[in-house]
Formats: sequence, C-alpha cells, structure tokens
Amino acid sequence: MLPSLTGFYTFACAAKYLSFTKAAQELNVTQGAISQQIRHLEDDLGLKLFHRKTRKLTLTKEGKRLAEVVQYSMRSLISTIEEVKTGGSLKREIDPNFSVHEQDLHRGWVEEAIKVIDAEYYRCSDTNLLKLNLPTFPGIHLYFKDESTYPTGSFKHRLARSLFSNALCNGWIQQGTTIVEASFGSTAIAEAYFAQLLGLPFIAVLPSSISQRKLEKIKFYGGKYHLVDDSRPIRIVAQELAEKHQGHFMDQYLYAERAVGWRTDQNLAASIYEQMQKELYPLPKWIVVGVGTGGTSSLIGRYNRFRQMPTKLCAVDPENSVYFDYYQTGNRNLISHSRSRVEGIGAPRVEPSFIPGVIDRMMRIPDAATFASLHYLEKVLGHKCGGSTGSNFYGTLQLIREMRDNQETGSIVTLIPDSGDNYLDTYYNPEWLQANDYPVEQYYQQIETFFTTGRWIDLEK
Ligand SMILES: *Cc1c(COP(=O)(O)O)cnc(C)c1O
Repeated sequence: MLPSLTGFYTFACAAKYLSFTKAAQELNVTQGAISQQIRHLEDDLGLKLFHRKTRKLTLTKEGKRLAEVVQYSMRSLISTIEEVKTGGSLKREIDPNFSVHEQDLHRGWVEEAIKVIDAEYYRCSDTNLLKLNLPTFPGIHLYFKDESTYPTGSFKHRLARSLFSNALCNGWIQQGTTIVEASFGSTAIAEAYFAQLLGLPFIAVLPSSISQRKLEKIKFYGGKYHLVDDSRPIRIVAQELAEKHQGHFMDQYLYAERAVGWRTDQNLAASIYEQMQKELYPLPKWIVVGVGTGGTSSLIGRYNRFRQMPTKLCAVDPENSVYFDYYQTGNRNLISHSRSRVEGIGAPRVEPSFIPGVIDRMMRIPDAATFASLHYLEKVLGHKCGGSTGSNFYGTLQLIREMRDNQETGSIVTLIPDSGDNYLDTYYNPEWLQANDYPVEQYYQQIETFFTTGRWIDLEK
C-alpha cells in the first residue's frame, strides 16, 4: 500500500525548499505538522528521507531519488487536473497582473508565428515512397516511406512542427519563451530548427551518450543543450530547466499523441495512403513502424480506424524496451534498467503517447537483426538508413514470410524515419559492432538467404 498522498505532497514541498519552515509557509500549516508528516512518511516507507542537522536540512540518497519522482509526479498531477478542468485549453494559471493589452500584443506575435510555421509547411514537399523489388516473392510488394529527406533529417520534423503549432495555439509559447525539450537527438534537432525560425531560445536535454553529429546539428540551428548522465531521467531534468527559465517544456513523450492531428489529411498516414493510390495493391495489408514516443503508431492506428482502412498496424520494439512486454501483459509499471541501443525507438518505461489499443500486432526485434538489416538494406535499397529502419525491415520480413506461407498477395509499407548519416560511427562501423559483440553476421546470412531464395534459417539462441 502506498502512504498517503498528503505525505508525498508535503515531502515534495520540503524537498523543494530543503526547509520545513518554508514548506510550512507554503502549505499554510505549522512546522510541527510538516515534521510529523515527513516522519510518518519515513515510517511508512521504511526509509530515511532527510538528514536533519541543526541549521541545515539535506536529502539522503534515497530521499533525493524519491524527491525527483515525487516532484515530477505532483507537477504532472496538478497540471493534468488543471487541463482536465479547463478542457485542455489552459496550461498555466492566469497571472492577474497580465493585462488585456499585453494579451493582445502576444496574440499578434502568436499570429505571426503561426504564419511562419504554415509557410514552412508550404515550402516543404512531401517525402518519397520508395518501392523495393522482391523478385523471390511475386505478389508481395514492399514500400518504404522515406522520411529522411526532411530538412532536419528525420520524421521528427513533422512532430516538431505539430508540437510548436499545438503549443502556440494553446497559448503556451509567446515572444521570447525559452523552449526546452527532452530528446535522444532527432526531435531536438527538429525543434531547434523551428525555434530558430521563430526566434526563440531553445535548450535540449540529452543523454550524454548522444552522438557528436547530432550535437553539431542542434548547435547549427542555434540550440543550446544540457547533457545528463544515466542517473537521472531526461524528462525530469528538462522540466526543472524549463521552470528555471520560466520557459515551456515541449514534452514530446506526453504530447506527441495529442499534438499530431489524426483527423486531418495533413499527416504521415494520409500521405502514405495518398501515394499508394496508383499501386497494384493500394491498400496495404500491413504498415510497420517502430515505437519511440508512440506518436507515430498512435497516429497510424487511429487514422486506420477513422478512415475505416482494412490495413493492420504492426509495431516493432528493440531490446531493453518495455513496450513489447507492456503490449503483452498490460503492466504499465514496467521499467527497463538499460537503454535501447536503437536510437529513436524503445523506452525504459511506458510513455504516455503509446496507445496499445490501436496496434494490431507487436514484435520484438533482436538488436543484431536490426543492424544486419541495415547493412542488407544498404545493398538492396542503395540507402544508408537509421537504426530503426533496420528494425522495421526485419519485422517486415516476418510478415512477408507469413504472407508467402499463407499464399496471400498484397502490399506492405514501412518507414525510413531517418538516414544512416548520424550512425556512421556506430551501426555502420564494423569495429563498434564487434566491440559490442553483436552476432550480425548470422542475421545477415539469414536475411540474405531469405531474400534471395525464400528459405528462412532458424537461428537458435
Ligand atoms: C522518434 C523516432 C522513431 C519512433 O517514432 P515515435 O513516433 O516517437 O514512436 C523511430 N525512428 C526514429 C529515427 C525516431 O527518431
């Protein structure tokens, strides 16, 4: 059983100020009451949360760890309650000193900003749908939606545009607002680009393992960054940083699912169906995507339902990610203690934009199979693709195999979310693959044999 919410709330407040006196002032209770609440909480948890010295209050190691999560959860709870109450339209409390005149001024800037986003959309052309010939599998047609041609190099360009547009229309961004985002790279690059277009300061919170190339691109678009080691979740650090700068935390993991419009035809799903129109099998049997925030799978799954498409959605998950297990078990509290090695997909905890109910099938793809797929794809498609394309391709091969075995014909569409340029030092570097002990060779053989002869070699672990 969890201790009382009041205890956690008190703890969050005391941890924020590192002072029972200030916490008492903020919560409008006596200092004794605070002290008692904390003691109860410590008893309930069986943990010591604070070191109490005469003049100084500090958090214990356990207290520190818990404080981060509790503060984050409390803020999420408060802002969600606020949002639910206002029908999702209001995020900040209205400042009574904020005059109507100022609102008008901001409104003017927001209108200009929306125009800038709109014009950018108009300037960008749609991405290509490539076809890969499958001579071994007559009657099965495979397509790749190549999203790597966006100006910022990945389909996070679409997401960043939607997040900015959503935040502007909700009144969360005004002239001068510092934009903060937690990202593994691609979203940060795309948001830096849009922040620069709008003349807004941008700070990305990134894991310290991020590649130099991605950092360079963020800097290129005028973004700043803040690196975090494995000890703290980037989302929590980003939220703190946004508060410190009185900025706006974009929060792709929360808003990807909401900011992307699935009831319109200006999205990735609509574009795929539109471009398939003149193909022999215009309605794909399957669309195969990876899951990072969950935004893409949520969009396509919902669009399929909304437009009553017969197409099924298959999502692929890498190693060290909880999505596959969550999909199987429904347990939302799963945590993975290692990070996904396939940049862009997988997550150590279930993110709020992931909606399992719109996904028809999920597969876990071994990382070595993903990397082998990239190398094989380079040979047959002539492109170096990003890591998640490898997972998509390997998942697609399973579906091709099943369709062939069931004597089905039809098309399958999958994605190239980003290009391989960012991964020359890793997935495309034989030394990196060897140093990490990936059995890429046997998967490569398996893929090549299947692709050229149709025979599937079972790899026993
Ligand atoms: C973000 C990302 C994904 C996953 O897309 P989501 O919409 O976040 O689930 C896949 N591949 C790459 C390269 C990405 O950057």
